[in-house]
Amino acid sequence: MRPFPFRTRPAARGFNRALNNGIRAVSPATKSSLATAPKRIVVKLGTGVLTSGIGQLDTARIAAICAEIAALRSAGSEVIVVSSGAVGLGMGALKLERRPKEIAKKQACAAVGQSRLMQTWQAGFAKHGLTVAQVLLTHDDLRVRSRFLGVQETLRQLIGYNTIPIINENDTVSAAEIKFGDNDTLSAMVASLTQANCLVILSTAPGLIDMKGTGKIVPVVEKITPEIEAMAGGTTSETAVGGMVSKITAAKLATKAGCGVFIASGSEPDILARLFAGRAPGTFFVPSGLPLEAKKQWLAYFQRPAGTVFVNAAAIPVLRDQGRSLLAVGVTGAKGAFAAGEIVNIASPDKVTFARGKCAYGSDEIAALAGKHGDELASLYPSRKRLEVVHRNDLVLL
Ligand code: GLU
Repeated sequence: MRPFPFRTRPAARGFNRALNNGIRAVSPATKSSLATAPKRIVVKLGTGVLTSGIGQLDTARIAAICAEIAALRSAGSEVIVVSSGAVGLGMGALKLERRPKEIAKKQACAAVGQSRLMQTWQAGFAKHGLTVAQVLLTHDDLRVRSRFLGVQETLRQLIGYNTIPIINENDTVSAAEIKFGDNDTLSAMVASLTQANCLVILSTAPGLIDMKGTGKIVPVVEKITPEIEAMAGGTTSETAVGGMVSKITAAKLATKAGCGVFIASGSEPDILARLFAGRAPGTFFVPSGLPLEAKKQWLAYFQRPAGTVFVNAAAIPVLRDQGRSLLAVGVTGAKGAFAAGEIVNIASPDKVTFARGKCAYGSDEIAALAGKHGDELASLYPSRKRLEVVHRNDLVLL
C-alpha cells in the first residue's frame, strides 16, 4: 500500500509536546507518519471494535484509539468520530444475549448504551486534555436541506472549538423509515458533509477480501465496479449491523464526494498512522477525481427517493455521456407515488437505477407525458417555462 496521497504538511510543532503530556506511548512509526496524515479525518468505529463479547467495553482498545486520535490532533489533523456501540452496550447493561428484533427494544438498548458510550469517550479523551461533543443524528436531519446546513454549521463550530465530535445515529428516536440503517452510511454522509479528506472505517474486518480470487485483502480499489461489490458479504455478528456490503456502499458515497476511504481492522496497533503511511493491512478506495458539487451530493445521497422514473434505452447515453436533461420523449413510465419536485431514481428499461434527480412532474402526470415530443408537451403544459422532466442541474449519475 502506498502512503496517503492527498496532502503533506510539515510535522506539527505540538506533537512532541503532546507526547510528553502523558499520552500513552505511540510508536515511532506513528510519530513519523502523522506528519503526512490527512487534514480532516472521519474515523468510524464499529461495535465489534469497541466491545469484547456482548456489551463489554474493550477499554484497552478504546484507550489506544483515543491516544492515536489525540496524537493526530496534536499533529494538526481534525478528527471526527462516528461511534457505534450504543445498542451493543445497552444489551450488555440490560443483560440481553441476543440483539432484540423489535425496534422499540433496540431503541431502549440504545438509550441505555448511548450514555455509557459517551462516558467512555469522554473519559478516554479527557486523559489527553480533549473535549468531546455528542452529536446524534437521524436521517431527516440530513434530508431536509435547512437542517442539513444547520448540522454542517454546528460541526464546523465544534471543530473550531477544538472538540472531538462523537457522532451516532439517534437510534432511540429513529423510526425504521427514517433510519440511516447503519453507521457506515452515516459515516460516509458525515465525511461528505464535513468535506473530510479521509474516512477510516475500522471494524473487525481487515479490509475487503477477494474471496473469489486471491483470498487476500485488496489493497487499493481505484473504482467500485460490480466485481468489487460482489466481493462483499453481510454481517453475521450478534451486535454489529453493517457488514462489508454497507462498507462498500459507504465507500462509494464518500469517494464520489472526493474523500479517500480506508477499511481496516480496529484491532491492529497504531492503525491510523500506519494506514496513512501505507504500512498496515487494509483496503484504500481512491477518491473520485471529480467530486460532485455539494448540492448534487446532497441530492444524490442524502435523499430517499420517492419513486422511480423509467427511461428508454436511447435516453441513457444522453443522460450519462452527454450530461443533458431528461426529456419526456425518453420517459417510458414511473413507479411509486411522488409529487412534482420530489427526488426520484432514474432507471433503465431493465430496471437498473443509474441516476437520481428532482422530478418536475408528479407520478400521476408521467403516463400522459411519457414519449411526448417538446411541442406536444408544450401544448399539454402551455404555462410552463421549462418542460424538462428532470433538469440536468437537478440530476446526478450514480
Ligand atoms: N447506531 C448503532 C449503535 O450505536 C450502530 C449501527 C451500526 O453499527 O451500524 O449501536
